[in-house]
Amino acid sequence: MSNPLENLIENLCKLPGIGRKTAQRLAFYIMGMEEEEAIKIAEAITDIKKKARYCSVCYNITENERCSICENQDRDQSTICVVEEPSNIVLFEKTGYKGVYHVLCGTLSPVDGITPDKLKIRELEERVKTGQVKEIIIATSPNNKGELTAQWIKETLKNYELKITRIAYGLPIGIDIEFADEVTLSKALEGRKSFNA
Ligand SMILES: [Zn+2]
Repeated sequence: MSNPLENLIENLCKLPGIGRKTAQRLAFYIMGMEEEEAIKIAEAITDIKKKARYCSVCYNITENERCSICENQDRDQSTICVVEEPSNIVLFEKTGYKGVYHVLCGTLSPVDGITPDKLKIRELEERVKTGQVKEIIIATSPNNKGELTAQWIKETLKNYELKITRIAYGLPIGIDIEFADEVTLSKALEGRKSFNA
């Protein structure tokens, strides 16, 4: 790759939601930035790969073996809110939720090759097997993939003695949970409904 601009554009294209046009625009923008600022971006990318890792319990992003939520003894470790991505945790934390989490690292989408073994569903079952879990709150998005994933989790955990709930939504069906505001999310959590009884 001899042309630095072309190299940057091609690399930016690897990011989700970034097409060639957007990548070009970003690349030109970066070219016009103060060198110091541009280097900060590059360093932030290097940093996250070097320092951040997935929590060995819940798959949240952390700098340690276990994340601060899993380590916090004031949190209700028997209630697990199951989310799609680590970024969803930030949203639920704003609602004042006091339990812990489990990140699936995606949603089921067989057409895209995202089968159950690609998600952290088996790892969730391992946590349930310990007998320490009383409630699983499934907080996947109310769209096709999110519903499919919720059904699959319910099916996987049906033989365990525990309460499974699905958060209720005051938001339009089909939306990605990433776009929910904290008030809506807080209400959805409060109004969660039994999913396995
Ligand atoms: Zn954790």
